[in-house]
Amino acid sequence: MSTLYLHHPSFAGHKTPPGHPECPDRLRAIDQMLEHEKFQPLERDSAPYGSIEQAALAHPEAHVTDIRSAIPASGIVHLDGDTSVSPGSWEAAMRAVGAACLAVDEVFQGKVRNAFSAARPPGHHAEKARAMGFCLFNNAAVATRWAQTTYGAERVAIIDFDVHHGNGTQDIFWADRNVLYCSTHQMPLYPGTGAFNETGTSNNIVNAPLHAGDGSHEFREAIDTAILPRLDDFRPDLIVISAGFDAHLRDPLGGLRLVEADFAWITNKLMEVADRHCNGRVVSLLEGGYDLDALARCVAVHVAALMTG
Ligand SMILES: [Zn+2]
Repeated sequence: MSTLYLHHPSFAGHKTPPGHPECPDRLRAIDQMLEHEKFQPLERDSAPYGSIEQAALAHPEAHVTDIRSAIPASGIVHLDGDTSVSPGSWEAAMRAVGAACLAVDEVFQGKVRNAFSAARPPGHHAEKARAMGFCLFNNAAVATRWAQTTYGAERVAIIDFDVHHGNGTQDIFWADRNVLYCSTHQMPLYPGTGAFNETGTSNNIVNAPLHAGDGSHEFREAIDTAILPRLDDFRPDLIVISAGFDAHLRDPLGGLRLVEADFAWITNKLMEVADRHCNGRVVSLLEGGYDLDALARCVAVHVAALMTG
């Protein structure tokens, strides 16, 4: 079965200040890379407009509408030191939510085996009621709740290999025994959360922090020892990947030293877990990744691996 690739021109309409690493060119680099003929078998679709109700699966509805109210008619408005909105941000954020839900729809309806959404803004720093860290709404959390409410998924596992800890995802699922959140990330680093001993109220949070300078060996060891056994014990009905590629050695924001092969490896490992427990259902959502060339190459190996499923 096939792999779904979701994208939309409006994702480039979310403007950030000049020189900001989370910029529209990230998606241009990815789109260009995925034009290569080896990606021709991808099912390509436009990200649909998500609804406020969908965003409100992971956030209080008043918070969602507060974000909408903050969108300026022109220019850029800062929500915090590094998170901002522009006139195009609402459509981008809502289509990012819509793409996350459509990806879940397509894998649960058996139309595709797995899906990758190349959306921005990213999502994993967005807490229940706080936009932060370049993120407005938590797309991975929305996908998870959508799978639970629409398809009766009992257990959803979220794996986050972005170099930054997904404090927002941890916040949203801290007390949810039916969601296993697993993260590798550099520590110390923004946002400061993600220590080993942050385990959630039901031991449903698995943090495997890495140190600046760590590379393939330490990353794979953490995944093999701390995360894969927990995933198998959990027996997920869906795997959601918070796919950040800023742990690559060329990334300007992170200090880890992963290479493309590591992202192919983790993708294959997660697909094996999905094959064992949930008919291969994997929904992968773009998070970080700020060296444009490295980002495009990492997405290429990630998507190529998904296509072998
Ligand atoms: Zn990141």
